[in-house]
Amino acid sequence: MEYLQSLMQDADLVHFVTTVYVCNLATWGCLAIFYELCHHFRLFQDRLVRPVGNYPPPDLIKAALIQNLLGNLVLYPIFAVLIYKIYVHIHGSVPLEWPALPLIPFQILFCMLVEDTMFYWTHRTLHHRRIYKYIHKQHHKFRDSIGLAAEYAHPVENLFGNVVPLWMGPMLLNASLPIICLWFVDSTAFCTLVMTLLWPAIKLTLCLVFCNALN
Ligand SMILES: [Zn+2]
Repeated sequence: MEYLQSLMQDADLVHFVTTVYVCNLATWGCLAIFYELCHHFRLFQDRLVRPVGNYPPPDLIKAALIQNLLGNLVLYPIFAVLIYKIYVHIHGSVPLEWPALPLIPFQILFCMLVEDTMFYWTHRTLHHRRIYKYIHKQHHKFRDSIGLAAEYAHPVENLFGNVVPLWMGPMLLNASLPIICLWFVDSTAFCTLVMTLLWPAIKLTLCLVFCNALN
């Protein structure tokens, strides 16, 4: 209890944790509302990776919902405190200012590369036949995937496959708090929405670029 009180008295830590916490909840909340509307009004059905087929069993959805709520509402602030402590241990503090404008896209791109590379290799490792059944099997219980399935994973997988890759880029860069928030929004909501809403335009642009390159 005393430790909790000492944490609450650290204004910089409270600012950091509440900012990333609200950012995470707002991002996932907006995504959830968006996809619920799409599902309800049958919007963008042609953009689904898989057609809506057999919905996962209710027990599995309930288990995923409970785990996701626990993870996002309870474990997330604890992770945020730990990450703040590591950040301060390495860099001394978390910068609060935006970097120079031209640096912003490069920092986001760097975070993307780090996350994608780490996610790929941890995922691949988790599929190793000696590890799969102990850790990663839980995530693949969903045969027909839904949004909740994304975070339905063993705690070890969530830590090393999701949390560490997400934070490694900002940590290496000593990224400021605004960049961290932008990176979170970009890595979840923005990319998903762009792929959903603008995919035809992206496909057309890629086709034109490749056709021009081939000619
Ligand atoms: Zn897998």
